[in-house]
Amino acid sequence: MSRVSKTLDKEFNEQCATEWVKEASKPLEPWEQCPDVWKTKAAFFQWMRGQMRRAWSRHPVKVSYMHNHRERVPLGKKTKKNPTGLVWGCRCEHCNNLFKQTECEVDHIEAAGSFKGWEDFEAWMVKLMHINWNSIRVVCKECHRIISYAERMKITFEEAKLEKEVIAFTKHGVAAQGMMLQTRGIDTTNITNAKQRRAAYKKHLQEQLNDNK
Ligand SMILES: [Zn+2]
Repeated sequence: MSRVSKTLDKEFNEQCATEWVKEASKPLEPWEQCPDVWKTKAAFFQWMRGQMRRAWSRHPVKVSYMHNHRERVPLGKKTKKNPTGLVWGCRCEHCNNLFKQTECEVDHIEAAGSFKGWEDFEAWMVKLMHINWNSIRVVCKECHRIISYAERMKITFEEAKLEKEVIAFTKHGVAAQGMMLQTRGIDTTNITNAKQRRAAYKKHLQEQLNDNK
């Protein structure tokens, strides 16, 4: 071996040793330290997301926003004690309809999204918790479900609503799906499988959506 290659070899070995020491002295991740508690990194962060959402559900700015946006609405049961059926409710800031307070949720106007590791954890926490009255709104559960789906899939609210309706359609049995198609005036003669039924239903909803535009 020449003197030059021997020097290079030594440098390479030293480099490897440094990397190894760096790697070995890294603190263990929670799922590595306690694999009986969290089997994987994904399981650990799933638990983290749940805990952070619990904290969000009691966020004082969110709670005060809801309290200040609620009003008495005639959506309760009419009883002798409450003949008007007035209960606490909110007006959905998306569809503008009135709902009981239990059917309303607070939504981040700019989605907080999600996180999968430490690298995006802080940014997510800031978006989730650093809120003010201009960055949140009250929406009904149904609107919230569709808004969240639209954000996750990066589609419009209308597209998300349509997708959700199609998904609900596919949950029905074959006979019920056939009935649903027929009552909407769709010719089912050449529709023989689940994929075709789904496509026919979706096409029908899309046409309806275009007609209403
Ligand atoms: Zn709504």
